Amino acid sequence: MTDVHTKATRSKNMAAIKNRGTKPEKKLLFLLRKRGYSPLLNVKELPGTPDLVLPEYGVVIFVHGCFWHGHEDCKYFRLPATRPEFWLNKIMLSKQRDEECITQLFAENYRVAIFWECSLRSIPPHMVNFMLSGFDAWIHDASSVRIEFSSSTVF
Ligand SMILES: [Zn+2]
Repeated sequence: MTDVHTKATRSKNMAAIKNRGTKPEKKLLFLLRKRGYSPLLNVKELPGTPDLVLPEYGVVIFVHGCFWHGHEDCKYFRLPATRPEFWLNKIMLSKQRDEECITQLFAENYRVAIFWECSLRSIPPHMVNFMLSGFDAWIHDASSVRIEFSSSTVF
């Protein structure tokens, strides 16, 4: 008996696994579902393809990787020693794109919550509740159109 998977299908499977969302997104999805929310995932019809959307609240949620989205003063944002200007330029462009998408979302009357990856990594359980209580309060405060959660706001 030979392996049923050819080399090609196996690498296709590997790619599928790799693309199946990053860990912090999955963690947030799990936490929000546990709290009674029913988020839609990866909504391509909206600017920036938000990771999670709560249509009944008009809220979109981005889970931002601290490196790729350039989280300032964050321990997860460290420029590589080689070609730092290349990375900095790349990150600046993605930050600029993020802000453009958020402006478009505001124009479409959405409110925007950003969860930085550092707020979801190795966070103690009581802090999770503290953070999500803050999120609940924000959800019901229509006067605030934008909120960000990071390890420095949470811990
Ligand atoms: Zn961060």
